[in-house]
Amino acid sequence: MEKRKPLSRREFGLLIIQQEGKCGKCACRLDFTQPKRVVDEHLHPLADGGGNEITNRALYCYECAKGKTVKEVTPRAKSKRYAEGRTQYDKRKRAGGSRIKSRGFQPKPAGYKYQWSKK
Ligand SMILES: [Zn+2]
Repeated sequence: MEKRKPLSRREFGLLIIQQEGKCGKCACRLDFTQPKRVVDEHLHPLADGGGNEITNRALYCYECAKGKTVKEVTPRAKSKRYAEGRTQYDKRKRAGGSRIKSRGFQPKPAGYKYQWSKK
């Protein structure tokens, strides 16, 4: 995975011209007068094999960048948990093993919250 590289001033300027000073997502006018109101985003996330080249970059307004980041992180964190066997089901399977199976324990759909009885 490539490391995130900040845009050079030249690249930043190029993107502003390309996007006509508008957000790459909602097309609102980007606010360059305040710090951190314009975020350079990777269209193809670095974690997904994207690169730092300018064709993979876009300037987003803060709101769009925030929305994108949240959407990106959540499903990935979840699938990572599944891949590493850290779900509640995996924990129960390790703790109880075959007992769960014989009682017909079914893994709950994603997002299901287990109700633990109070001890
Ligand atoms: Zn926007």
